[in-house]
Amino acid sequence: MTHIEYFPHDYRSGRAAFLSAADKAGAQIATYDAGSTGPDGDPVFTDVALLGREDAPYVFLCNTATHGVEGFCGSGILTGFLESGEASALPDNVRMVFVHALNCHGFAWVRRVTEENVDLNRNFVDHDQPHPKNPEYTKLHPVILPEDWEDKTVAASKEKLERYATKHSLYKLQSILTGGQYAHPDGIFFGGTEPTGAQLRFRQIVEEYVVGAEHVLFLDWHTGLGAYGAGELLGMTRPGSPHGDRASKWFINGLATPAEGQSLSAPLSGTIGSGLRRRLADTDTDITSLTVEFGTYSVRDVLMALIADNWLHAKGEVDSDLGRAIKAQVRKALYPDEDDWKELVWVRGRQILRRGMIGLGGH
Ligand SMILES: [Zn+2]
Repeated sequence: MTHIEYFPHDYRSGRAAFLSAADKAGAQIATYDAGSTGPDGDPVFTDVALLGREDAPYVFLCNTATHGVEGFCGSGILTGFLESGEASALPDNVRMVFVHALNCHGFAWVRRVTEENVDLNRNFVDHDQPHPKNPEYTKLHPVILPEDWEDKTVAASKEKLERYATKHSLYKLQSILTGGQYAHPDGIFFGGTEPTGAQLRFRQIVEEYVVGAEHVLFLDWHTGLGAYGAGELLGMTRPGSPHGDRASKWFINGLATPAEGQSLSAPLSGTIGSGLRRRLADTDTDITSLTVEFGTYSVRDVLMALIADNWLHAKGEVDSDLGRAIKAQVRKALYPDEDDWKELVWVRGRQILRRGMIGLGGH
């Protein structure tokens, strides 16, 4: 396999390659049935590859496809790391936990959301408390979900969004649309009103392989933000905090410190990292938690693709010419199926995994 070939054509081939690479690397496999099916009608699964001693004090937890379609990238990197023998350099005190396709439904359907139309990375709020409010999103909701997807309607929606960005700023528009909303189940970046199946699966994986460790390094692998093919690490990395100092020491370059208004990402609620921190808050486990983001295309292109996909599943027909065109648009927006992109992503992904493994093992 060349490094370009680590990156899959679809969820099924990604899963097969991951399982085969894990087997080759001598990993144990745990499989979780999501209880839903892909577009081919067959069940979809989350698979976990486990490498290293069961009682190792440090756990390196890598999670992919929190945002379904973004899993093409994460799948390729984890498969490559196992397939190429890189994982054999695992320090004796580290256990590697590679999660393939947490939101396997979204991966299989080439969607960012779960089967519940929920953004899993906004779903980890405390649902017993009042949900965060996003009144500006409510104003824009009819623009985001028009009745039809004719050229004229799409152009009108785009124009209204552009007007909003001009009046306020593109960052403000991005924050409203992507920060998370809990009032429109048929909208974009909907955080849900209860834990999704994928959230419960993640929590089960954490109970089984993370709780009890001395330290967990958590990397959640995403795409869609940043420069084409560039991989940045986002998280609470302020210098002077134990977390920030550790992250800087381990990863050195490519850390984006989110000072006010400076991060690539808008402020988010209910992230998977916050869920992990909440679970481990009253335990002795230290956490270093970062999001890896690989850039694809512009924020505008990515947002329009997600708006189109949301319309398709709410009001359109996936199995139609328009449906197939929108699916191709979403896939491209979050997974540029180009050799140069895959090459950049592989080299950077491998670098991050190597550094994570060595940093965690030697700290
Ligand atoms: Zn993402």
